[in-house]
Amino acid sequence: MSERVLIIGGGHAAGQCAVSLRQKGWAGEIVIAGDEPFPPYQRPPLSKAYLSGAMTAERLFFKPAEFYEKERIELQLGRRAVKVDRQAGQVSFATGSPLAYDYLVIATGARVRQLHCDGAELAGIGYLRSIADTDELKDSLIKGARLAIVGAGYIGLEVAAVAAKNGAKVTVLEIADRVLSRVTSPTVSRFFEDLHRSEGVDLKLSMGLSGFEGSDRVEIARLSDGSTLPCDLAIVGIGIVPNDEIAREAGLDTDDGIIVDGCTKTTDPSIFAIGDCTRHESRYFGGNLRLESVHNALEQGKTAAAAICGEKVLYDQVPWFWSDQFDVKLQTVGISTERHNLEIIRGDPVSKKFSVFYLHDNRLVAVDSINAPADHMISRKIIASGNELNADDIANVDFDLRSYI
Ligand SMILES: Cc1cc2nc3c(=O)[nH]c(=O)nc-3n(C[C@H](O)[C@H](O)[C@H](O)COP(=O)(O)OP(=O)(O)OC[C@H]3O[C@@H](n4cnc5c(N)ncnc54)[C@H](O)[C@@H]3O)c2cc1C
Repeated sequence: MSERVLIIGGGHAAGQCAVSLRQKGWAGEIVIAGDEPFPPYQRPPLSKAYLSGAMTAERLFFKPAEFYEKERIELQLGRRAVKVDRQAGQVSFATGSPLAYDYLVIATGARVRQLHCDGAELAGIGYLRSIADTDELKDSLIKGARLAIVGAGYIGLEVAAVAAKNGAKVTVLEIADRVLSRVTSPTVSRFFEDLHRSEGVDLKLSMGLSGFEGSDRVEIARLSDGSTLPCDLAIVGIGIVPNDEIAREAGLDTDDGIIVDGCTKTTDPSIFAIGDCTRHESRYFGGNLRLESVHNALEQGKTAAAAICGEKVLYDQVPWFWSDQFDVKLQTVGISTERHNLEIIRGDPVSKKFSVFYLHDNRLVAVDSINAPADHMISRKIIASGNELNADDIANVDFDLRSYI
């Protein structure tokens, strides 16, 4: 009987891992068992082009259905894995028979962090993680609709942008004193605050939510300063929680994410974990971290496939991410949070085309590029090189940054 790689979870990381296994010559069975009713699909458009209606559902899918058949990748959809039995080498599911594995790849991603406050269960209060979530929301973001968004992270702000463009009356509540506080600097936060306000979004910073009220569905949001906000619907974007319980219950090391080594291997040599559900050591962060990005999901998927096929390829990628809001594309490379001691602006924020470079002791640790893709692309290479930079060169838009690689 041929060997089997069983991948549990059917998202970006799972899809890439299966594709890479075949590309690297894995001749045995590949089974993806995911709990959603869809084959692997891209989540970023769910709060961007798919939410706005600019992209159809078919374009969300990672690969067409025939691809899986042709490549002998078996999709078992609607199957929720509930237990990994490491001794027996098998996984059981909420329904149907268990599946045996020779190698197991855990790619269970993450779920939204839920609000726990009065009225949190009322109809009209939603979250955004899946196609089903966006389908439920998209037709309600119409002209005049009063939308309350809880959390000014990427997802909250992306939904705010789509809704405001549709003519909805959007209010964003953020408990921190600035937007995107978890992922960027005050300079970039201020830029996005100005952008949203100029487009008519009402941003309420340093403002918490006490609860919701309504008879059948949400009608009012109660705010931490005692005021009330009438609303027809609310979207909550307050972060995600990794789906690592199945690994923890199987005795694998976890710590707000499944701990993996440079090859994405867990503490069991026949079990790998990839994507949002993992935590790994990164020299670009200076410690271990859990990344929530497509790039990480794809690259870890490739790394796990290589390791299963007997290649020792270490995952050593500079993290990067993007966000689209109104006419702005933000591209971030590296992790800036508290790791820099110098910040340099290249370009002109008023023109909405500039980058913020974050340096630590003359070495680049991160860059936020706003409508400046060339800065982003070159910065990925500079960060990976570890080369020293001169602050004056960065600030000079006529200086060719390619000389640093
Ligand atoms: C609205 C939205 C916008 C985003 N925008 C961006 C962006 O602009 N740029 C970017 O880089 N990233 C973005 N992300 C993040 C990116 O989509 C994730 O990092 C990526 O999807 C992670 O892939 P994954 O395969 O690890 O996890 P997921 O995509 O979460 O897939 C995991 C899958 O496993 C399933 N599953 C969970 N538990 C089980 C179980 N026990 N058994 C079987 N199946 C299970 C889940 O239902 C899910 O289908 C966005 C995410 C969202 C939700």
